[in-house]
Amino acid sequence: MSDFRVAIAGGGLAGMTLARHLHHHGLDVVVHERDADLLTRNPGYRLHINSTGTTALKSVLDPRLWELFVATAGMPRQQIRHFDEQLNPSLIRDTSGSAGDGKATGDVPEHLVADRSTMRKILYTGLEKRMRFGARVIGYRHNPGARVTVCLSNGENDEADVLVGANGINSAVRAQLLPHASVIDRGVRHIAARIPLTAATKREIPDELYSLFTLVSDSQHDMINFGPLERSNPRSPLVAERDEAFRCEVGNDFALSIFSSLTTRLPADAELSKAHPEALRRYVLKRIASWHPGVVELVRMWTLDTVQPLALRRSVPTSPWAPTNITVIGDAIHAMSPALGIGANTALRDAQVLGAELVAAAMGGKPLLTAVSDYEHTMRGYAFDAVRASAAMGERIIGHAPLPART
Ligand SMILES: Cc1cc2nc3c(=O)[nH]c(=O)nc-3n(C[C@H](O)[C@H](O)[C@H](O)COP(=O)(O)OP(=O)(O)OC[C@H]3O[C@@H](n4cnc5c(N)ncnc54)[C@H](O)[C@@H]3O)c2cc1C
Repeated sequence: MSDFRVAIAGGGLAGMTLARHLHHHGLDVVVHERDADLLTRNPGYRLHINSTGTTALKSVLDPRLWELFVATAGMPRQQIRHFDEQLNPSLIRDTSGSAGDGKATGDVPEHLVADRSTMRKILYTGLEKRMRFGARVIGYRHNPGARVTVCLSNGENDEADVLVGANGINSAVRAQLLPHASVIDRGVRHIAARIPLTAATKREIPDELYSLFTLVSDSQHDMINFGPLERSNPRSPLVAERDEAFRCEVGNDFALSIFSSLTTRLPADAELSKAHPEALRRYVLKRIASWHPGVVELVRMWTLDTVQPLALRRSVPTSPWAPTNITVIGDAIHAMSPALGIGANTALRDAQVLGAELVAAAMGGKPLLTAVSDYEHTMRGYAFDAVRASAAMGERIIGHAPLPART
């Protein structure tokens, strides 16, 4: 089986989870990650992980790594909360779309929250020799009936039986494989920042804001979002065994806070992207000046060097395509509105489903193209449903532009 080689473009959550699955089953796997290492680009955000995500993670983490993941994740104090701008509770919205459909693992609740950076460090443990950092996958040469040649930005090539594009929303693999697949603007921009959760800041933050996700919005779709990460067991001996950077990350709880607004109510992208973080924070404070003082205080707590504008886009579900030995997982094929918090969970599920199919193909259990086709057929069902459900919720609560029909 060791001569069955899989190349993965992108070492994000989906790419590394898939790599762990394949490596565990004895396949030869290599991950090409554009960044120089895991620390180069700290994305600095926390993720809602549901049972779909935990099922996929538990299947690829050995018991000690799983325990480390649980220790470094947070167990939300309460479910999603929604308030108006004066902090009056809004109508309870249907939050069932945020739940997963994985197996209950017994040791964790349906919903937990995790630091994307910590998750990547945990997934990397044991995968060190399978990761190649510092060169982008810029495309591939498809040799029908034979291996695929992966082309890298440093001029080198790699040969594999299968290439998996796990390289996010701007995936060069998807662009070549499915040139008709489109990624579109949501009509909304975010200004995101972190709030350190220390004894001092926690005293200032109203208790009712601590939940899985707390959304505070006015009738114009201006919104402040507060997503706390209070790690469940940062003093675990498993944390103490890790290096200083890991211990330091885990020792600092934080909340992700996002101001979102319709593009029609914001300065142009060029202006936002060159604005100083201090100016962005001042701008948000001005926009929410008449809101409840507790919400204004949240924005005052934003750590300046984490304030950044984000222009997030999403995929339009694509019509079925003929399977080849090149395929795509995660945001590369189904980037979605964050309204339900299920993009990463769906990406983790892809890794689990495709992993099982590729192992079956490598063991001679089914022809490779049947395995790829079975993955793609299954994925298009659950993932495009997730894109549509997220779009519908995003339209309703964030003011996202409607999702066009399939491309
Ligand atoms: C602010 C924010 C909050 C979110 N909250 C949630 C949430 O609560 N719950 C949830 O489920 N989802 C959430 N999401 C969505 C979630 O982060 C994504 O769906 C998920 O990270 C997708 O994982 P991925 O591995 O497919 O892609 P990515 O995480 O984008 O990883 C892609 C990887 O590929 C690498 N790469 C890119 N191009 C190349 C190339 N050419 N060659 C080699 N490597 C390349 C990148 O460096 C990166 O490491 C959120 C997203 C954002 C931005």
